[in-house]
Amino acid sequence: MIKKIYLDYNATTPVDPKVLDKMLPYFTENFGNPSSANHSWGWTAESAVKKSREQVASLLNCRPQELFFTSGASESNNWMLFGLVSKLKQENPNEKIHILTSRAEHSSIINSMKAAQELGVEVEFLPVNSYGQVELETIKKSIKSHTKLISVIWINNEIGTINPIQEIGEVAHANKIYFHTDATQAVGKLPINLKQLKIDLLSFSGHKLYGPKGIGALFIRHSNPFVEINPLIYGGGQEQGQRSGTLNVPGIVGLGEACEICKNEMSFESIRIKKLHDYLTERILSEIPGCQINGHPSERATNCISATFNQTSIDLVLPKLSTLGISMSAACGSGRTHISHVLQAIGLTELQANSTIRISLGRWTSEDEIKETFSILKAAFT
Ligand code: PMP
Repeated sequence: MIKKIYLDYNATTPVDPKVLDKMLPYFTENFGNPSSANHSWGWTAESAVKKSREQVASLLNCRPQELFFTSGASESNNWMLFGLVSKLKQENPNEKIHILTSRAEHSSIINSMKAAQELGVEVEFLPVNSYGQVELETIKKSIKSHTKLISVIWINNEIGTINPIQEIGEVAHANKIYFHTDATQAVGKLPINLKQLKIDLLSFSGHKLYGPKGIGALFIRHSNPFVEINPLIYGGGQEQGQRSGTLNVPGIVGLGEACEICKNEMSFESIRIKKLHDYLTERILSEIPGCQINGHPSERATNCISATFNQTSIDLVLPKLSTLGISMSAACGSGRTHISHVLQAIGLTELQANSTIRISLGRWTSEDEIKETFSILKAAFT
């Protein structure tokens, strides 16, 4: 049998079996609706949701009441933007709104920002440097008197670059501007302390940290400052009236458990993964001529390698990579119809972007798999 190797953990992770075990009873015997306040089915579900919120809060070091469950990071990103814009317009209908974000954001930010522009919001997509970082100076220079929000991705999903989130938050708060970060690739990978960081809004998804798909959260700061945004989904008033809809209890239980496992295992898991990451990076660079690794050399996620090979087009070698579950950065959702905006933002040509692959490692990536992956890459590209 041909051995396939999954190396697309930035796209999604398998659910940890320990997470699944905790989730399963909430599909069957514990199926209650946490909003049912009159019987034990409801109470059981409610207490599971409470526990999960505490588990997530403990990973992020925030208060449980500051966490709002959503369907995932796309929803959280859309909600924070349109929720804030609508709140600001409600408070001050004539005031102009200016927002700063970057050219290397995930499409759920890029496209929701474009939709906000259609509503009359002034959005600036700031350039990034060749590592994919938004520079503090660029932000400082771009702030206007009516800048209300800065939104910058924490770890870039395509190239793994880490942005200076602490410093950006400080600049934002010094100028009385809200700061949002899309932390989808950061939660569960690096320590996050929301009591210390000047982050007002933070988005993430469960399926990037060994939890299930279709569940995520938005953190909304409740002190220093108390951040208020309007709901995106109105209805029965769940989640403090901020995000209606019957709660996805099994998903929430899974997210909580996934966060608890990350909290306990993150520090040594990241060391193990970094070793594999460094080994593969070094061999690619030293043994495959003309190859370059994209992203920041040190300020980077240790699970993600974006490599550009010296080829006219990767299409020629794709069949040789068919056993690897890797991602073509240049590919859009279904077909290869456009070049990645992130690779363009860091200055890659169309040809280079077309010869770029993303390899992302995770909890079950083994040393043998990484050695085998290198042999496959070497055979394909040399
Ligand atoms: N932001 C980032 C940085 C991501 O990597 C992703 C998932 N690729 C998302 C947002 C969207 O997450 P979801 O599809 O779970 O809504």
